[in-house]
Amino acid sequence: MTLHARTAAVDETRALAAAVSEVVQPGDVVVLAGDLGAGKTAFVQGLCRGLGIEERVTSPTFTLVHVYDGGRLPVHHLDVYRLDQLSEALDLGLAEMLDAGGVVLVEWGEAILPVLPHDRLEIRLTFGEGDDDRTLALTPEGASWGPRLDRLRAALAPWSAT
Ligand code: ADP
Ligand code: MG
Repeated sequence: MTLHARTAAVDETRALAAAVSEVVQPGDVVVLAGDLGAGKTAFVQGLCRGLGIEERVTSPTFTLVHVYDGGRLPVHHLDVYRLDQLSEALDLGLAEMLDAGGVVLVEWGEAILPVLPHDRLEIRLTFGEGDDDRTLALTPEGASWGPRLDRLRAALAPWSAT
């Protein structure tokens, strides 16, 4: 099951992500896929804002992980673009992040799917026709999302596309 949405400006993607933040719960993993510039970091910025995090959110391309506290839930923001091997992903301490009641957002996460929990929200961002057009395909996987599907659908309603 995949939900489709469309945005026409970076702030729309951030607003969409802020709406999604209301459905997010401790231990969630969000996988962000999409080419460079598609809006993965913009999504994380919006989700953090939605959780009440005021800190500036930037891509952790070189540090691999940023942690943002001070919101409704702690956010671990990963960018695994520079990981050379899947085995390196095991060293990131994912289980600890999730045990700590955090939310884990992984840019380029599709590269490390085998080490991620099966319960996750996969989001693929793609470029649309205009410079600022993006489409988002959101696929909730696993049992924990079942009871939240209606809320997720409602959160996305302003941007929903078929
Ligand atoms: P990524 O992390 O996927 O490489 P970023 O979020 O860092 O992408 O960058 C997205 C870029 O695209 C930003 O410069 C942003 O302003 C721009 N942009 C334009 N329109 C959109 C949109 N609808 N959604 C997200 N980003 C957009
Ligand atoms: Mg990024």
